[in-house]
Amino acid sequence: MQEQIALLANTMKQADYILIGAGAGLSAAAGLSFADEKLFRKRYPYWAERGRHSEYHMFSFRDWTIEQQWAYMADHISRVRFETPPLPLYQTLKTILEEKLTDKEYMIITSNVDCQFTRNGFPPQKVFEYQGNYDNLCCTNQCTQEIWPFQPVMEQMIAVANPITASIPSSLLPHCSNCGAPLRLAFRDYPSYNAEKIAYQQWLKQSEQGMLCIMEIGVGFNSPGVIRVPFERITQERSNVKFFRITVDYPDSEEEIAYPEIPKPIADKSCSINADAGFVIHELLKLL
Ligand SMILES: [Zn+2]
Repeated sequence: MQEQIALLANTMKQADYILIGAGAGLSAAAGLSFADEKLFRKRYPYWAERGRHSEYHMFSFRDWTIEQQWAYMADHISRVRFETPPLPLYQTLKTILEEKLTDKEYMIITSNVDCQFTRNGFPPQKVFEYQGNYDNLCCTNQCTQEIWPFQPVMEQMIAVANPITASIPSSLLPHCSNCGAPLRLAFRDYPSYNAEKIAYQQWLKQSEQGMLCIMEIGVGFNSPGVIRVPFERITQERSNVKFFRITVDYPDSEEEIAYPEIPKPIADKSCSINADAGFVIHELLKLL
C-alpha cells in the first residue's frame, strides 16, 4: 500500500498535468456519507417506515408525490449542502494541488453535487461538476438559461413541511417566473452544462502536450460513463499517462459497488490503491 502511494506521489511530481475524477467515495471519506442508516431513520422516519434505508437508497426512488419529493429534497439538500461545513479532507487535497505542486496544471471532474470543491476554495473553472449541484433551480420547459437560488425556496419548504405526510403544501411548488412551468433542481442537464463540458474537453486536449497523471478517487458504478470508463479509455489511448484508481472495495454491499480492479489492457500504465481516500490523501501530503 505505502509503495503504491509513493508511486502516486512520484508520478504527481513528474507529471505536467493532473486530472482528478472524484465520486461519492471522496465525500464519504471526508465525512459526508449518503449511506448512514441511523441518520436516515432519525431524519426521515416516514420513509424509513416505508422500507427505505438511506439517502443513497432514495436516489433511485420514484414512488412519491411531487410534494413529498420536494419536502425530502429540501431537507436532504439542507443537510448536505448547508448544514455540512466545508470538509477538511478537501482542504488537504487543495493544499497538495495548489501549494505542493504549484507547477502542475490540474483539472477536476466530479459527480458530487455537494459543492465541497468550490466551498473549499477550489477555483470554479477547475471543477467540472458534470451533474451540476444542489444550489439552483431551473425551468423544466427550458424557456430560459436563467437559474434561481434554491436556498430561500428550500427554507420555506422546510418551515411548512408536514411530518405526518412528509409533504410540502402544493402552493409551494416552485414555478418559472418566465413561463410558469414547474422548476426543477439544476442538476443533470443544467443550463451551463455544455459550456462547462467544452472547457473540460479543451483541458483534456491540452493535456496531450505533456505527461498526464490521472487520479480517480472514490468513483463507483452510479454513472460509470462519465469518469470511470472515459478515464480507462484515456489511459488506453495515450502513451504519456499514468492512471491511479483509489477506491475501497465493498465486497458485502449490493448497493455500493466500487471494484478497485484495473482492466488488463491498461494494467501496465495503471495502479489500483484499494484504500480509503482520506488515508491516501493524508499520506500524499506527507510525501509531497
Ligand atoms: Zn420557464
